[in-house]
Amino acid sequence: MKKELIGLSADALKEEMALLGEKPFRAKQLWHWIYNKGETDFFKMTTLAKPFQARLNELYSVSHPAIVTEQTSVDGTRKWLMEFQDGKQVECVYIPESDRGAVCLSTQVGCAQGCKFCHTGTQRMMRNLTAGEIVGQFMSARDSYNEWPTPTDETRMLSNIVVMGMGEPLCNFENLKQALLILMNGDGIGISKRRITVSTSGVANHIPELADLGVKLAVSLHAPTDEIRDKIMPVNRKFPLEVLIKACKEYQKRSERRQFITMEYVMLKDVNDSEKDAENLMKLVDGLEVKFNLIPFHHWEGAPFEASSMNKMHKFAKILENNYFAAPIRRSRGEDIMAACGQLKSAKGKME
Ligand code: SAH
Ligand code: SF4
Repeated sequence: MKKELIGLSADALKEEMALLGEKPFRAKQLWHWIYNKGETDFFKMTTLAKPFQARLNELYSVSHPAIVTEQTSVDGTRKWLMEFQDGKQVECVYIPESDRGAVCLSTQVGCAQGCKFCHTGTQRMMRNLTAGEIVGQFMSARDSYNEWPTPTDETRMLSNIVVMGMGEPLCNFENLKQALLILMNGDGIGISKRRITVSTSGVANHIPELADLGVKLAVSLHAPTDEIRDKIMPVNRKFPLEVLIKACKEYQKRSERRQFITMEYVMLKDVNDSEKDAENLMKLVDGLEVKFNLIPFHHWEGAPFEASSMNKMHKFAKILENNYFAAPIRRSRGEDIMAACGQLKSAKGKME
């Protein structure tokens, strides 16, 4: 089997080329073809000598995940089912904003965290994605919008990355890190760290390291006390709120410009949506610079929760806003194609 080049770090690609007796600038040229131009065919990499092209083709492959299905919502949100070499599949979503948009990447097939409100959480954890498979989702999304070669930061449509798809990113930390370094590399895909957000359910031990990468942090907080959080998020037993908040403080201390943290809060009827909950929530984040993101619960068949009423959500938001917290209620995107948060799943059959 040929060795896949997508996912190798810049240094690893250099080493690989050195083994073939090639100079470091060849690795740089190759990197440019792969990540700036999006080229997958060695024979079309015209700045490389013919014999070198043939040698590369013999030993290596450059492959983007296959797009199995593609659906576009009435609001412009686009969802793909993508398939990797071993047949495993994940969903990837593009969410357009007024002038640009974010690609939502998955990091695992399934998820082991088992959050009670999450559709992905009901599925068995199959495996971690490799760095190449995480990067590959972005490449296939760019294929779909024909956004090669890498446009300038001002003109690109696929301008941001949110790691909020299937899986818990911090349970696949090394691969995530390698993928982000490739995605941020200015000689290739070139997404700035300021345009990347990683969302975690609270795997606290890796949170401070996100500050070193310079990316933004979103925490799926969803509860103001351990009592409530224990019931809806099993991860809380391993990393209770005290540990989680401490890790968030460390993240802020270590980040360059005391980066704001987004606290995601899915509103579950009679579980976490009372006035008392809002008050406890503000106490909990004391000493941190945060903004809240109130998410309407997206129902799925068999879900053990109901969504809070709009009235209740507005009341909850008001309490936070009166205390100078930003607390927008997140607009739901792509609901008609089941692309909204917590609705992603793998294709049936491939999960079993
Ligand atoms: N595993 C990571 C990122 C993926 S989930 C994490 O948990 O943070 C993306 C966001 O959708 C998380 O905040 C998650 O808690 C939320 N979510 C999950 N299921 C949901 C549902 N049914 N309705 C609304 N939001 C949901
Ligand atoms: Fe996994 Fe995130 Fe869903 Fe929890 S909310 S089960 S961590 S994908």
